[in-house]
Amino acid sequence: MTSGDLHAPAMNPAQQQVLDLLGAPVSERPVFDAELRHQLRAELESRLAPLTGDLDPDDPFFVSKHKLGSIHGCEVRMLAEEAAGFEWSVPTARGTVAHKAIEMSVHSRGEPTPSELVDEALARLANDGSTLAEFLQHCDDADRIELRGEALDRVTKFLESFPPLAARWRPVTESRCRVELLDGRIILSGKVDLSLGQSKGTTAGKVLIDLKTGGFAPVHLDDLRFYALLETIRLGVPPRLVASYYLDSGTPRAEAVTVALLETTVARVADGVERLVGLAHGTVEPRLRPGPPCRWCVVLPDCDAGRAHLDEHDSGP
Ligand code: SF4
Repeated sequence: MTSGDLHAPAMNPAQQQVLDLLGAPVSERPVFDAELRHQLRAELESRLAPLTGDLDPDDPFFVSKHKLGSIHGCEVRMLAEEAAGFEWSVPTARGTVAHKAIEMSVHSRGEPTPSELVDEALARLANDGSTLAEFLQHCDDADRIELRGEALDRVTKFLESFPPLAARWRPVTESRCRVELLDGRIILSGKVDLSLGQSKGTTAGKVLIDLKTGGFAPVHLDDLRFYALLETIRLGVPPRLVASYYLDSGTPRAEAVTVALLETTVARVADGVERLVGLAHGTVEPRLRPGPPCRWCVVLPDCDAGRAHLDEHDSGP
């Protein structure tokens, strides 16, 4: 996107805010050293090298943003949630359905309505052979209606808040990115909701966007920094900007990508992977980290630390 796009006609104020945020004159875009990707990879691999003997390249250890977010929270809770397993439900499926519909809106040549997009997304997801397809085929009418309604809300808000995405901005939805470390023993992987723009040479130009419901949480910043690191190692040029877009409030929250931010992210990723591998192999004990999420933790009834934390912080008038 360029500053020439900043005043496209017939934008509502929310759309104009997105344009103002995402656009930047070429002269203001940062230029990065072409060696940066090698330096970041070398630093990651150096920190993770002690794990080499514990990992098998034929059975890679996968690390996602969700795993990293969990390991930097309460490790006991993370293990309890992993043990409980994942199940599709209306709350776990609504984001996937909405993102699929948004993906179709971005690439559609016509102007389908939000309802048409959601119905098409549901139809496609119900026939792709995945575990979600199985859920969609067998859920009852009430769940299906609720799922459709919640996805429709998200898609409508996206279309209201975002300007129409011109092809020259190179919009890409659900873009996957992965980085293999230590000869394939560790795979860092991510999937960005929406990317716009492109780099030119070593000048940054891409913007990575995660679409969120609800409000801000610090882990949202960490998620995007992780994506920025993957993108930098993959491409050699960092994104110019990473941003969470909060659909319910119509509010973007953006952060410029700098070398310092990427170096901090390397440290966070390395520390997280070290703990994840240690827990997976039973060589370290899980740590308790009491905090606000104790309120929704499945372990709370048996966790003295969590209950003490809530007693202390909920003792208002
Ligand atoms: S209640 Fe809190 S401290 Fe205890 S396991 Fe759950 S998140 Fe961790």
